[in-house]
Amino acid sequence: MTSLAGRNAVVTGASAGIGKATARRLAAAGARVLLVARRRERLESLAADIGGGAAALALDLGEADAAQALLEAAEAQFGAVDILVNNAGILRTSHVDAFDLSELEPLIAVNYTAVVRGSLLFARHMKARGHGQIVNISSIGASLAAAGTGVYGGLKAALERFTDVLRIELAGSGVRVGLIAPGTTTTEIFANMKSRGQPGWDEFIPPMVPDDIARAIQFMCEQTGNANAARIHIYATSEGF
Ligand code: NDP
Repeated sequence: MTSLAGRNAVVTGASAGIGKATARRLAAAGARVLLVARRRERLESLAADIGGGAAALALDLGEADAAQALLEAAEAQFGAVDILVNNAGILRTSHVDAFDLSELEPLIAVNYTAVVRGSLLFARHMKARGHGQIVNISSIGASLAAAGTGVYGGLKAALERFTDVLRIELAGSGVRVGLIAPGTTTTEIFANMKSRGQPGWDEFIPPMVPDDIARAIQFMCEQTGNANAARIHIYATSEGF
């Protein structure tokens, strides 16, 4: 029997990058996966490819009621949810001279509000059943003060504090909570920077690939017994900070 056989997992941001690699890994380990993002065709194609009862949900997590809609869709699809991977995110650099202020609210909505709302709603759902795993995807940027990362890194830092406290509040409930902070991983997240003529951060060093992070997410989801990995930071081997 595979390690996640019989488990139902929700993965946000599954149409690309780390989320897509995670969906593949969790499905290969036996989980039924609900794939969430905005690009429906990509999700449907991935669901068909990975099989095993995978399903697609096109949803804009920047909308205020998205987390509630996600919980309702997951309950309708699976009945009970065992795993939530809050992975969807966007990157906008925030240098004082150039930050586009119209990007601020969407960044907060997707990278922070949707993750917090989803964490709280799914935590209640899991707590009522006495078990579950929530994995929130942060960034090594949460721990770094570097030019251009103020808004993005600040939101990830806030998410880390929230996630730690959620773990503490759920202690003894059977619901594990952990965060994974990736370093530079080559994905579409740098496309916006590149479209503005800036070099992507994945061009400065040999980056990781999405499956490097997905492997750690799978590890968290497979924990047994009394262990609860609270934080995993994954740096690229050439990242020296
Ligand atoms: P990608 O750009 O490759 O993928 C982002 C995913 O998020 C896509 O599936 C996208 O789908 C989804 N998404 C974005 N906006 C929305 C929205 N409004 N509603 C629903 N889904 C949305 O990025 P990564 O795989 O690199 O990033 C995944 C996570 O990892 C993010 O939280 C990011 O902050 C974090 N991270 C990434 C690092 C890296 O170097 N790549 C480093 C540190 C952290 P769609 O466009 O179809 O909606």
